[in-house]
Amino acid sequence: MIYKGGSFRRTWAMPGSAIAQALAPWIRPRFRWFRAPRWNAWSRPFTAVLSPFASAFRNMANRGRLWRRLLQRYLRRTGPGGLPRANLIFAVFLALYVFVSLAFFLSPLPEARNSDIYLLSRNQELLFEYSDPAGGIQKAPGRIPETLKAILLLAEDQDFYSHGGVDFQAMARAFYTNLRAGRIVSGASTIPQQYVRNNFKSRMPGNPYLRKPVEALYAIKLGAKSSKDAILSDYIATVPLGKNRKGFFAASKHYFGKDLALLSCEEAMTLVVLLRRTSMNPKSLLFRMNLLRNRIIQEDPELARKCEWKAGTALEFPSSYRYSDPSASRQGGADNPGQASEQEAGKTDGGDSIESKPRIPSDVRQSEGSRNDANAQPSYESTEVDADARQSYENSNDGNVAKSDENSANIVKAGLTPSDQASAYEASGYPHSAPHLGVYLYHDLNIRGTVHTELDSGLQSHIQSIIRSELEVLEGKGANQAAVIVLEMARSEQAPDGSGPAASQGGNRPPAVAEDSPGAGSPAPAKDDGGSPLQDSQGLYFWKLRAMIGSSDFAGEDGQVNGALAINDAGSVLKPFLYALAVEQLGFRPGTLIDDSEFVVSDSIRKETYAPRNHDLRYSGIITLREALAGSRNVPAVRLIERLGIQQFYELLKTAGFEHMQEPARDYGPSLALGTGGATLFEVTLLYGALAARGEMLPVQIASQPRIRFGQNKRLFQENTALLIRHILSDKEARRGSFGPRSFLDFPFDVAAKTGTSKDFRDSWAVGYTDRYVVGVWVGNFQSDPTLGVSGSRGAGRIMHQVMRMLHESGGPRFEYPENWKYANICKKTGHLAGPNCAHFTEPFLPYDAFPPPCSGNHQGSQPTGILHPLDDQIFVLDPHRPADSQSVLLEIRAPADVACRYWLNGKEHRLPADGHLRKHIDPRPGKYEVVMDCAGGAQQRTLFRIQD
Ligand SMILES: [Zn+2]
Repeated sequence: MIYKGGSFRRTWAMPGSAIAQALAPWIRPRFRWFRAPRWNAWSRPFTAVLSPFASAFRNMANRGRLWRRLLQRYLRRTGPGGLPRANLIFAVFLALYVFVSLAFFLSPLPEARNSDIYLLSRNQELLFEYSDPAGGIQKAPGRIPETLKAILLLAEDQDFYSHGGVDFQAMARAFYTNLRAGRIVSGASTIPQQYVRNNFKSRMPGNPYLRKPVEALYAIKLGAKSSKDAILSDYIATVPLGKNRKGFFAASKHYFGKDLALLSCEEAMTLVVLLRRTSMNPKSLLFRMNLLRNRIIQEDPELARKCEWKAGTALEFPSSYRYSDPSASRQGGADNPGQASEQEAGKTDGGDSIESKPRIPSDVRQSEGSRNDANAQPSYESTEVDADARQSYENSNDGNVAKSDENSANIVKAGLTPSDQASAYEASGYPHSAPHLGVYLYHDLNIRGTVHTELDSGLQSHIQSIIRSELEVLEGKGANQAAVIVLEMARSEQAPDGSGPAASQGGNRPPAVAEDSPGAGSPAPAKDDGGSPLQDSQGLYFWKLRAMIGSSDFAGEDGQVNGALAINDAGSVLKPFLYALAVEQLGFRPGTLIDDSEFVVSDSIRKETYAPRNHDLRYSGIITLREALAGSRNVPAVRLIERLGIQQFYELLKTAGFEHMQEPARDYGPSLALGTGGATLFEVTLLYGALAARGEMLPVQIASQPRIRFGQNKRLFQENTALLIRHILSDKEARRGSFGPRSFLDFPFDVAAKTGTSKDFRDSWAVGYTDRYVVGVWVGNFQSDPTLGVSGSRGAGRIMHQVMRMLHESGGPRFEYPENWKYANICKKTGHLAGPNCAHFTEPFLPYDAFPPPCSGNHQGSQPTGILHPLDDQIFVLDPHRPADSQSVLLEIRAPADVACRYWLNGKEHRLPADGHLRKHIDPRPGKYEVVMDCAGGAQQRTLFRIQD
């Protein structure tokens, strides 16, 4: 006979909360501060004190006659005129009990280490789950279906809501059974007891007879501290369900490949049955499920009706059950006595029979063991990978490199210890669609608990499959790894009083941004909550990290290395930023002529010379900036960095967050323009984000809750500069010369794109951006070995192309440019305004630009003539951090062929050299300068420029 605990609880077991709850409707409107849950929290310890009595009373009700007789006998002896001393002793014991137990129940619970991390996607899907094998507390990362709760309680702990944490009656029965058997065969663990056992292992004594009462005490105490609902959901989130798999959330992904909230009754019941023993073959699993189902039909008709279970029918095994634990055959039964005994002592409770306990294998030991196993999985030597990758990185840079900083967050690292990795692989049944980000957050940022990331799980897995199919082709050529990052622009909900960087730039903002709205299953909107160093206060726009893939296969060889954070030779991907500097500091425009002819740099520090070469090993002579950038010419880039000063470019990269560059600028030399300083895909993608966001570096939001952001709002370039560069990078025609008529950088909509290839095709890069997305791709191998011609456009470019197309499935954007820009035809030969007979390009100029002088139409020698440098109205700003004598301003004048010319500098007359070509560095004394060139026949040109402190 079973006494229904519900009414009993109301009358006896929880008087405090019962009265509070009963009075609540009356009290609440009268006292605003009054809240029943608060009273519940206060009343819980008292309830806990009373729980043994509650249990005794219940027992009395169950076995009424026996207890009544005992009570009667006691009253006969101690009643009026009986034994007053016995009454006194009883009262003293009772007071002592209440005092001691209250003190115990009011003292705090042992601190349970939160050791797990759950990554949720933007749509709340579980992406990654990792539990420290040492255990810990974790809150449920999602919704728990009511049917699962009901089935679980019926199977594991029927009186969960009425007992005070411990079922004394069941315990007494178990104690008696064990005593008779002479060993521990049976236990009655309530859910709080199981929870205590799983999570407070360190507090439990080793002796199994002693452990049970201590466990019980803590279970009561747990009930005194938390509500029943909280205990139940914590239990569901943490209970071990198979090897290295904690909680129903992970198990649901593992066994059924879906979220817990989507489980059917049958599937939920499968997990509940597996709770007792995960190494069970489907036949006995189904048998037990049928037993449980029949019990439910009898005892909980409402649940049975909800699940549409009818008596007399047989249960169908859920066809979605897709995973039979491979370890089950290996470790099932008693064929592994050594391990079994370890488990007995370490992890599980010896007080339970096989029938009533979850089997909890020890993950680390297991994975260690499995390495020597016949079906051993590949093992990982992460530390070697680590050292290797760094070593080869250093080698690949011709010694022209800074040492990677050991402490830098950017160095190549697997993040996991070898045993961690082995267990991470063992746990391949885990949801792990974003393992690299998960490991990064767990190990590098030390983040625990549920993380609401900005990742898009669909995008993440699509990219994963694109990578897989692309690498199939590339693997034969030596490229077997790829990393991808996708950023999407988002707008903060709160506009910081219109003073955002956008507003200050004339409101010319990207039209299509992801609104940070609470709709469509997105997590709670990011709100500025102040205090965190990772967040910006004034920024209106930021990036959301939509995808981060660190390697081709996390479980594969070297797969734990996060290629998105590994430093690789950057090749040409950094060139646009060099040209952007030239636009701002030298007044260059896309039509400015640039020299792509042989050039030798003498390196005064290493006392050697360096002759950059183009990828096609040819020089193309005088070309426009547009051609030089779109065609990714190396020689003009090196010429340009020499002219700008390596320091300038170096500082730009540092400002942009290239923290791994630890050596002074001059140590990198002019090849910094060709990416030899190294870069991570994350850094590069973020830097292109600055171009996409019209010159402003925006922070990247990795997670909304807890809010994890990288970087700050920083203006790197003027908006016009960024748009001029975009004008070039989205120019299909200009690319054509170098990349052929059909390229993977061409799209049916506007995309600005750049590729990069490092020395000997070691690294293949491609970055593309629209107003809304930035897609960065790296392809190569983690050994930094040369590949067989996997260039940026062929390797990474193909992947970038597919990802970009996927992101813009519903049609891509058109780039728009400010209406006040002006355009002019530029003579290809002279860089001047094209005359009627000049081959020309149409190039944009900024509103305040002066057009170049008209072309004379005389293209002899194909050299531009006139005052070539400085440009009219140009302003030079002296760098206070550099010695003045290392800074100079170039004066370049070329006379037309066979024409005698003179020039005046600030009124002082000079002669041109005999060949009519002057290149002279003048002292950069601050002030206004005037250059006038005067040629025979009356042709004259005048240029004003200024040097500022
Ligand atoms: Zn011309």
